[in-house]
Amino acid sequence: MTQSTKRTVIFPGSFDPFTRGHHDLVKRAVPFFDELIIAIGQNSTKQRYFPLDATVAGITAVFKDEPKVKVQSYTGLTVHFAREVGAVAILRGLRNTIDFEYEKSVAESNRLLENTETLFLFTTPQYAGMSSTIVREIHKNGGDVTAFVPYPV
Ligand code: ADP
Repeated sequence: MTQSTKRTVIFPGSFDPFTRGHHDLVKRAVPFFDELIIAIGQNSTKQRYFPLDATVAGITAVFKDEPKVKVQSYTGLTVHFAREVGAVAILRGLRNTIDFEYEKSVAESNRLLENTETLFLFTTPQYAGMSSTIVREIHKNGGDVTAFVPYPV
């Protein structure tokens, strides 16, 4: 992995949408790094529910007063994107044991692929039940998602 004096971490995910749980995790991680890139993975076979452009704009607005936080979308492997931006690690959140089992496999694969380390933060309990899937379901059915998403959708 590229060594640089700037300590960059990427926080990859679908962020469809970016929730208050994601927001909380980013705020807690920022003090440990010089730059944190919220990396929105684009999967060619998976159609997004909330448009990418609006999601990038929404997250950018949320962090307008935090110069360390950047928002970028990427295609392809997360480890390749991490290398491209010279990241020292990947950041992920852990809500529960289901996340743990899945994240463990992904983190091990990423270490085998590119020797990329993954760092984890546990979710603040208040946000542990929050998932983008549930937020999409609420929105699809006409519910108000203001309590879940930190920008207007
Ligand atoms: P993916 O599709 O890659 O799982 P998500 O957008 O669902 O992407 O999640 C991105 C990251 O944010 C993951 O590490 C996930 O565990 C974490 N995360 C998801 N929901 C929350 C939450 N409520 N609080 C904190 N972290 C979360």
